[in-house]
Amino acid sequence: MTRFVFGTVCTVNLYEKGSEALYNRVFDRLQTIEEVLSANLDSSNISEINNAAGISPVRAAPETMYVLQRAIEFSKKSGGAFDPSIGAVTKLWSIGFEEETVPDNTVLREKTALVDYRDIIINDDEQTVFLARPGMRLDLGGIAKGYAADEAAALLVSSGIKKAIIDLGGNILALGEKDGHTPWTIGIRNPEWGSRTAVFTIPVINKSVVTSGIYERFFEEDGVHYHHILDPATGYPVDNELLSVTIITPVSLDADALSTAAFVLGPEKGFHLIESLSGAEAVFINRDREIRITPGLSGTIQMLDSSFTLAE
Ligand code: FAD
Ligand code: MG
Repeated sequence: MTRFVFGTVCTVNLYEKGSEALYNRVFDRLQTIEEVLSANLDSSNISEINNAAGISPVRAAPETMYVLQRAIEFSKKSGGAFDPSIGAVTKLWSIGFEEETVPDNTVLREKTALVDYRDIIINDDEQTVFLARPGMRLDLGGIAKGYAADEAAALLVSSGIKKAIIDLGGNILALGEKDGHTPWTIGIRNPEWGSRTAVFTIPVINKSVVTSGIYERFFEEDGVHYHHILDPATGYPVDNELLSVTIITPVSLDADALSTAAFVLGPEKGFHLIESLSGAEAVFINRDREIRITPGLSGTIQMLDSSFTLAE
């Protein structure tokens, strides 16, 4: 079944065991998560927190508390490359929305100065979140779809489902195995602008596969492409040698946050971050059509496009 949630196309496939009622429960859960965590809905818990920035703490929903605490954990791990307080900057660019535009440099600098995860004050006892400075804004766009995929999978497992593919706008969670010890085969697309073909496939069992790249959301102005992964240090789209980073982990939230974090950190620091974590594998594709994989993936990926080279 396919529905539009999180501003993107979400597909859940339960194969032979899918009942209409179960599909509806899964999509209801996804919808609820969007209603709580969206930075684009005025009524969401995240918007309440954003609107009270610099004014007062706001009661946080359990989903907000959990995702935000995990987000801050990845901010620390990445030295601030991943930062959920990037909201004032993403709103200014509004990439993917009607009002998308290259911001005025001075305004961009002001908004970028508001980005700092250390100014997100979480009170566990009171279950509140306070953004310390006026104008600060949260944006969980780099992590919340991963969380949503995990929640959808948990709901399916508790309903007795052993295999499913959950695809939330390219954030994929492959539950179980395809059938009798056959892994799922996930295709990774060519991240170059305008391409839609797969570069290689990767076999997975019970894993999430999440990609961050320059191609997912962007606009063009005066011949320049501006994509949606922003450098918290400058406020501009990250400009390094990378086209995309794919992360494979058991937990989708981890893969989502890490793909964004590693993309911002770049080909060297980003790769080292993933190598330092147990249970995480990665595929980095750079502008020279070179593919670099972590040792755990060696011998597993199947190349489909010979114009890309695999550096092992
Ligand atoms: P990822 O690489 O996982 O994340 C990139 C996104 O993370 C950016 O779009 C930005 O939101 C944020 N980000 C950018 N730089 C950083 C950084 N350095 N650190 C941390 N985060 C960063 N889209 C719509 O068009 N309309 C909607 O109404 C809408 N609602 C949404 C509601 C929710 C709850 C979520 C999770 C997403 C929603 N989206 C919506 C989509 C959203 O705007 C992003 O496009 C999407 O989350 C990007 O995911 P990705 O996997 O492509 O990229
Ligand atoms: Mg992400």
